[in-house]
Amino acid sequence: MTTTQSDQRPMICDEVEVRSIERLSPTYVRVEFGGDALADFGVDGPLYDQRIKLVFPTDSGSLPSFADAEQSWVEAWMAQPPEERGHMRTYTVRAVRGEGRDTRIVVDFVLHLAEGATGPASTWAAGAGIGDRLMMIAPRRGMPFGGIEFDPAGARTILLVADETAVPAVSSILDSLPDGTRGHAFLEVPLAGDVLDVRCPVGMEIVWLPRSGDPLGEPLRAAVLAHLGVASPAEPFELEVDDDLWETPAYSSSGEEILDQAVTVGHDLDGLYAWIAGESAVVTGLRRHLVNELGMDRRQVAFMGYWRRGVAMRS
Ligand SMILES: Cc1cc2nc3c(=O)[nH]c(=O)nc-3n(C[C@H](O)[C@H](O)[C@H](O)COP(=O)(O)OP(=O)(O)OC[C@H]3O[C@@H](n4cnc5c(N)ncnc54)[C@H](O)[C@@H]3O)c2cc1C
Repeated sequence: MTTTQSDQRPMICDEVEVRSIERLSPTYVRVEFGGDALADFGVDGPLYDQRIKLVFPTDSGSLPSFADAEQSWVEAWMAQPPEERGHMRTYTVRAVRGEGRDTRIVVDFVLHLAEGATGPASTWAAGAGIGDRLMMIAPRRGMPFGGIEFDPAGARTILLVADETAVPAVSSILDSLPDGTRGHAFLEVPLAGDVLDVRCPVGMEIVWLPRSGDPLGEPLRAAVLAHLGVASPAEPFELEVDDDLWETPAYSSSGEEILDQAVTVGHDLDGLYAWIAGESAVVTGLRRHLVNELGMDRRQVAFMGYWRRGVAMRS
């Protein structure tokens, strides 16, 4: 296998190849990636929701090269002609297996069967074969990389809310949490057959919500609002949706100031940390309930749009 690695870079930015493929369910394909460069993979602490970038091949099957890049990998990638640079998407490290040169990174891909719309990443995953290659940008051991949002600080209770694209992240968070952690995970998936075998720390409860034909996000909305004791409106809100929705205790994509607010309502939200990720409109709707109606402190919640219905991610 050829590599384009520069060992000087603070992150792994290299070609990897498919080592194994497992169809977990109608919607999920698990792909294990290997490559010499992954020997240097590592994060400082638990994986939690560690994200990575994957660059999928161009229509002609080639991958971009970062070999001679003197600038940042993003600039190097953007500097290449669009028809030659492939398609970059964000995914979650579901697990790390092996060690040294046998280190493998596991990614669980959603096939967009239910929505009918597909893109370069899901198309690639649906047809992936052993030995297929793509480019991975991932953390290098001992170097700062970022890409972990889960940060409950001193929270006493955890609320994890995810659609199918964020189920891999929640599954990895659950793998990382010790027994004795208190909280709930609400996981919406397209079909009953997509309920996966996931570790549940003692003290946590996982609630799987197969849509089974219901509108996207409705099972999540109903279950989360019932859990928090909020009356659910009969109809979903019509919302202005930010494609780049990303609001965490440390960052706001809209530039909103993170104010020093107190919890203002009578619900028992004291000590709660909520991590909410999925389709942007669904997350925006939940945000409106939690922050605007329930008065939940912005510092207690991470809201993340992982994808946007009808919109291809920028690449
Ligand atoms: C931090 C982070 C972590 C993520 N982790 C994962 C992960 O581990 N596994 C995973 O599968 N996804 C994950 N995603 C989501 C993934 O990046 C997007 O779904 C991405 O749009 C897929 O790219 P694509 O090329 O298949 O589709 P795009 O080219 O981006 O979009 C093409 C069309 O497909 C639609 N579409 C995109 N995603 C879906 C979907 N899930 N269901 C139905 N229609 C869809 C779009 O609305 C659009 O109409 C993550 C996203 C983020 C931001």
